[in-house]
Amino acid sequence: MSRLQQVTVLGATGSVGLSTLDVIARHPDRYQVFALTGFTRLSELLALCVRHAPRFAVVPEAAARGLQDDLRAAGLSTQVLVGEEGLCQVSSDAEVDTVVAAIVGAAGLRPTLAAVDAGKKILLANKEALVMSGALFMQAVRKSGAVLLPLDSEHNAIFQCMPGDYARGLSQVGVRRILLTASGGPFRQTPLAELEHVSPDQACAHPNWSMGRKISVDSASMMNKGLELIEACWLFDARPDQVEVVIHPQSVIHSLVDYVDGSVLAQLGNPDMRTPIANALAWPERIDSGVAPLDLFAVARLDFEAPDEQRFPCLRLARQAAEAGNSAPAMLNAANEVAVAAFLERRIRFPQIASIIEDVLALEPVVAVNELGAVFEADTKARALAEQWLSRNAR
Ligand code: NAD
Ligand code: MG
Repeated sequence: MSRLQQVTVLGATGSVGLSTLDVIARHPDRYQVFALTGFTRLSELLALCVRHAPRFAVVPEAAARGLQDDLRAAGLSTQVLVGEEGLCQVSSDAEVDTVVAAIVGAAGLRPTLAAVDAGKKILLANKEALVMSGALFMQAVRKSGAVLLPLDSEHNAIFQCMPGDYARGLSQVGVRRILLTASGGPFRQTPLAELEHVSPDQACAHPNWSMGRKISVDSASMMNKGLELIEACWLFDARPDQVEVVIHPQSVIHSLVDYVDGSVLAQLGNPDMRTPIANALAWPERIDSGVAPLDLFAVARLDFEAPDEQRFPCLRLARQAAEAGNSAPAMLNAANEVAVAAFLERRIRFPQIASIIEDVLALEPVVAVNELGAVFEADTKARALAEQWLSRNAR
């Protein structure tokens, strides 16, 4: 390899960010950390800076002075930048090769798009960014020539099972369907009546994956799979009816691609984000990720079932938003972000997450989004409607 790849990790203190840094640390001959960003848990960000000595660290304005002083005291020359502007700067800097987009939620949209516009290699975990702005996001990728690689385990699995020229169109390359697997989360078998009383900690206790709290709640409601359905449509230029959700409780098959000749290709592995991260970092090469080899004898069996939309209304709402397109996915995402935060703060009960989203989507007409301003407008409107719902109905 001619020179070290310069990597910016947006959301370095999160679950995906930490897994990324674990893989990077295994390959000092390939990767160098250019910038790390964090929003909370800033003492952890300081420790990560000490470990990886980035050129830049990005934090909220209020934390900048303290972090800069601590970095200097630790003998580091890392420069602290602030806010969204700082995030966009470290995503688009001429020296950066790869940007890992691992901020959670809509907050990641502008920095991720800054990396896209600058034509970087982007490893996308921040699915909300793509869900909100799908058509505009993909247009920007085509325009700048950015390389967009999925980190989401399902989409990375689909990517690995697709032929290299899938961008020609799914029907052109003989793909019939994408089979998107889902674990079903912690409430797959919980009696429906009990869902009224589940706590945030129960919702965050995912059976197979250890993740941030927002995506953990999304997994429990299956909104995560709904967002992933929309994500898959954009990444692989698929129609919503070409993506089928399959519940697979063991989370060993990370997704499958069904071809017209009857072949179905799957990607398997232990549920550990370091596999898709290593795959996308080194693509088209393969590198060690630190993940243990899959023990099929220990797995022993693979089960599949159809999702129950009565249990998981968020999946139905997301499919409807995927079909409606335009501003609908941005509104779905925004209402969900407000609802999940309210659930985590114990302001609402778990089934009310879907009620809020359904009511917000019913109130606001779907409008065309031809520029980014319209995406943020839809986002702002949906958040305001969700907040109004909360002030009227919260327990
Ligand atoms: P997390 O909560 O563990 O980490 C989120 C990161 O974003 C943190 O570094 C945090 O400081 C930062 N952040 C939060 N709010 C911010 C803001 N307003 N401005 C700037 N930075 C902010 O989340 P996670 O589980 O690592 O997930 C990150 C993203 O990756 C999400 O979009 C999630 O859907 C996706 N994803 C996660 C996993 C997983 O295994 N955790 C798998 C697939 C996809
Ligand atoms: Mg996923």
